[in-house]
Amino acid sequence: MKVTNTKFLRAFNSYKDITPEIIKQFHINGILIDLDDTLVPHNYPVPDESVKLWLEIINKEGIPVCIISNNQKKRMMSFIKDLNVGYFYNSFKPRTHVIDLALGVMNIRRDEAVLIGDQLFTDILAANKSGIKAFLVKPIGNKSTLFIKLKRFIERKILK
Ligand SMILES: [Mg+2]
Repeated sequence: MKVTNTKFLRAFNSYKDITPEIIKQFHINGILIDLDDTLVPHNYPVPDESVKLWLEIINKEGIPVCIISNNQKKRMMSFIKDLNVGYFYNSFKPRTHVIDLALGVMNIRRDEAVLIGDQLFTDILAANKSGIKAFLVKPIGNKSTLFIKLKRFIERKILK
């Protein structure tokens, strides 16, 4: 299983760049999204204003969102308290059983789903194993040049 199977992989700087236009372009009808370092910094306890705004925008499109985290129950419950989202904690990505559950809850097919996340060997690998689309985002608060290298690599593959 190649993590960098670029058929269904794209890279964005931030979840905020995943707009209704992008969602339409990729025929997405349901979003699975990682929590730590994707929506907020690791263990930042609550959603900030831009997370709320983005969820509102996605909500208006009628697109369900499900947060899928390997972190624990307590952390998840603090974060989702006032949000209108589905959620799974202790997800054990790159294992895929939670992705299957989420697709069932959202009642969508694999080809309509995307997993957004910052980690290649958990988020992106899980998406690839499940046969759903994957959007890699730059980890929040991390100035890593690895992301930029990966982004360029993905773009080169796609442009070929
Ligand atoms: Mg993460």
